[in-house]
Amino acid sequence: MIPSQAVPSPIAHGLAGLAIAHISLVKGWARPPRLFWIAALGFAAIAPDLDFVPGLLIGQPYRFHHGPTHSLFAVLVFGVMTATIARLMRIDGLRWFGVLMAMGYLSHLLLDAFTVETNQPFGMPIFWPLTNDPLRMPFHLFLDIQSEKRTGNFLANLMMWHNARAIAREILIMGGLWVVYWASLAIARTRPPSREAPARRSDHGR
Ligand SMILES: [Zn+2]
Repeated sequence: MIPSQAVPSPIAHGLAGLAIAHISLVKGWARPPRLFWIAALGFAAIAPDLDFVPGLLIGQPYRFHHGPTHSLFAVLVFGVMTATIARLMRIDGLRWFGVLMAMGYLSHLLLDAFTVETNQPFGMPIFWPLTNDPLRMPFHLFLDIQSEKRTGNFLANLMMWHNARAIAREILIMGGLWVVYWASLAIARTRPPSREAPARRSDHGR
């Protein structure tokens, strides 16, 4: 049997980071260059899965996966760390950098929480270090990505039908959310301007 883990593919996480970058730029929480924010928030949205790295080094990729890196405490640490780095580098226009990076990180935990799990341990220790009790959602949106633990051959995994379906579903769900977002913007643009705030008459010339 092929073991599986509760991980959406990096595509879903990357799209979530992209969405946060886009909304931040539109709302003015972030200032261009656009590419910087896409890269930064794309990284933040994938960062929790860096917990694969120490496992890979000892030949057990899943050894530390879904541990403290997938907790609200880690969200806080990541936000403070990135904010501190931005401050130390004295980069202008990064006022909300730590907060937005924390949002990107948090989006990863949300997507993972709504992913099917077929192997133990189930859930993530979201309230670590207060408790190790795992958070489990009553329903799931995303399929798990299956992988061969012994070889960790990620490229071969992508070719698997199950994973193709999982990725298709991710694109469908995330794409659907984008369509809803764009539609709501288009509807807002077609609305006539509000009459509540009539233009004030100038006092010049009186
Ligand atoms: Zn994860």
